[in-house]
Amino acid sequence: MIIDLDTATKNVKTADYDVCICGAGAAGITLAVYLARAGKKVALLEAGGFEYSDQSYDCYKGKNTGMEYWGLDTCRLRYLGGTTNHWSGRCKPLDEVDFMERDFFELPGWPIQKSDLANYEAEAKSVVDISGDFTAADISNWTSGKFIPDRYAISAPTRFGDKYRAEIEVSGNISLFINANLIDVRLNKELSSVTELVVMDYGKKRFTFTGKNIVIALGAIENARMLLNCDTQLKGGIGNQSDFVGRCFMEHYNINYGFFSGNPKYWKNMKKGLSLYTDSQFSLEHKIGNGNVSMSISPDPPTGGGRSKELRKYIRNNVCKWDEITELSRKFVDFQCPGDGILGTLMEQSPNKNSRVSLDKETDSFGLRRVNLSWQMNELDKRTIRTIGIELAKEFARQDYGRVQLASYILDENAKIPVGYHCHSIGTTRMSKSPEYGVVDKDCKVFGIDNLYIGGSSVFSTGGGTNPTFTIVELALRLAKHLS
Ligand SMILES: Cc1cc2nc3c(=O)[nH]c(=O)nc-3n(C[C@H](O)[C@H](O)[C@H](O)COP(=O)(O)OP(=O)(O)OC[C@H]3O[C@@H](n4cnc5c(N)ncnc54)[C@H](O)[C@@H]3O)c2cc1C
Repeated sequence: MIIDLDTATKNVKTADYDVCICGAGAAGITLAVYLARAGKKVALLEAGGFEYSDQSYDCYKGKNTGMEYWGLDTCRLRYLGGTTNHWSGRCKPLDEVDFMERDFFELPGWPIQKSDLANYEAEAKSVVDISGDFTAADISNWTSGKFIPDRYAISAPTRFGDKYRAEIEVSGNISLFINANLIDVRLNKELSSVTELVVMDYGKKRFTFTGKNIVIALGAIENARMLLNCDTQLKGGIGNQSDFVGRCFMEHYNINYGFFSGNPKYWKNMKKGLSLYTDSQFSLEHKIGNGNVSMSISPDPPTGGGRSKELRKYIRNNVCKWDEITELSRKFVDFQCPGDGILGTLMEQSPNKNSRVSLDKETDSFGLRRVNLSWQMNELDKRTIRTIGIELAKEFARQDYGRVQLASYILDENAKIPVGYHCHSIGTTRMSKSPEYGVVDKDCKVFGIDNLYIGGSSVFSTGGGTNPTFTIVELALRLAKHLS
């Protein structure tokens, strides 16, 4: 059943749910659907409607006070299906090494193992419509054990709102409320349990929802922002007794390593390019994070579209034929010429307390303080980025795949590394063995609150060098089992 709070006038059932889930993105929808299939009565509260609207999106605006990050505005979508309305669908589960205790990281890792999620892998594949295995391109000539072929699968990409809307509409167990903005989480007087959720539509009508269990699944940045805003009963916000809410904001670094020229012997017939991943022995020995490097030859004509397609075409036709002008122009604009060897990266960021989401003074239309994001890189991350780049270039040359021309900031330890990102927000309500180092326990339950759970990548203790959504779905399935 779907109810629009903006137009609902009477008979809105707001009480007595088994589970109230806030946020209908990858995490919230997976959880709601699987709980409902298990016979639980679920209220799914979604801030947006069925498509983009300025009034909903406005709540995502905030401030950047750390490294450049436009993702607050451009990455996140605030309507049914959430950010999966524009995700790309690259999927891969986390590796065993991601769950290992890596004592060179600043903070402890996951309190669970890969085996704790393994049972959910097959079901998670069906959620994101992957039928086969996670596979790697065949690169049988590659002999370096430091970097292994990366195994992954591509989802359609599944738009969670579109895929599950019909099931939700006819389900007797799910009530999906759209235009339902969570604005406060109220606790009992012992401060040990959630008593009600305060929710508003865009006309500022106020509703209170109750359920035996509550799950907050608003996306990693909003999960932290919401807990921090809920500070009228608990100073500093809910779950924040150790000052970890909002801390350890992690992304996957998208670093421009430079270019390579490929040996035609290998590259002439290579269709998909090389997609390599750090071998765990290699990253553990070097005491660095993990990461993916993909290598391909820029085709002519170029593939892809987007707003900059015409500009890229113009540059390729008019600049690429002059080497000197190409080199000069590249100091100002990042572009590729036909035949260029392109290096793509997705690198693990380590948990770092100084990289964080906090609250700004300015408020949104519901009176909630806006987000202030200070994304920070530490010395370990710089070592991860440089070591992977340099060692990969050496292996590439040793095997005569070609030669990599590394960007100067990779070789010069004193240079500033220009940093991009992948719109993967992670780690702001991290999972930990004890409240000393995190916000939720191994079941995703907020420490100290007996019926409050968190869904999404904010619970990741470490992020791996891997896209997060597959793990988000696995965790949601695991939480559905726990709450069933
Ligand atoms: C361009 C792009 C490409 C990407 N590609 C990949 C990829 O290839 N592979 C991958 O694994 N990941 C990818 N991602 C990341 C992926 O989209 C996210 O990991 C995933 O959507 C997160 O799911 P979520 O449910 O935690 O959050 P979201 O999907 O963001 O859902 C959060 C939901 O909460 C709702 N909400 C927010 N605030 C409130 C409130 N106060 N009250 C009620 N509801 C609220 C929102 O409207 C939204 O529906 C990509 C992201 C982008 C932007």
